[in-house]
Amino acid sequence: MDVEVTSQALAAMRLAARSAHPREACGMLLGEGGRIIEARTTANVHPAPETHFEIDPQALVDAHRAARRGGLQVIGYFHSHPTGDPVPSITDRAMAAGDGRVWAIIAGEQVRLWKDGGSDADAGFTALSYVVTER
Ligand SMILES: [Zn+2]
Repeated sequence: MDVEVTSQALAAMRLAARSAHPREACGMLLGEGGRIIEARTTANVHPAPETHFEIDPQALVDAHRAARRGGLQVIGYFHSHPTGDPVPSITDRAMAAGDGRVWAIIAGEQVRLWKDGGSDADAGFTALSYVVTER
């Protein structure tokens, strides 16, 4: 099944990647069901942000709290590759939790979606196709 992504979320990810360059941008993918409605940029708090990312933990706590109160769910995460391709790096594979969340990776204007494990935790990342919706 295709994931749906709003054009606003895609635009927000591309803007975040451009703004953070040459560092990695990062943030959370918020939505409901199979729909990514919002890409919320957070600080990249990793000490080596040119080659790594770590989403601001307080932003994650806040998003999960809002989700429990009926807000948008945390469907996954996004980050950019300032140099290279929008495919999971060795570092990304090492960080993967196998929790079934969606990872979006941005390189230039390209945005690709990946699923982190899921039913088979050893599966690693699998490419997801998506359709763009207006809202
Ligand atoms: Zn990466």
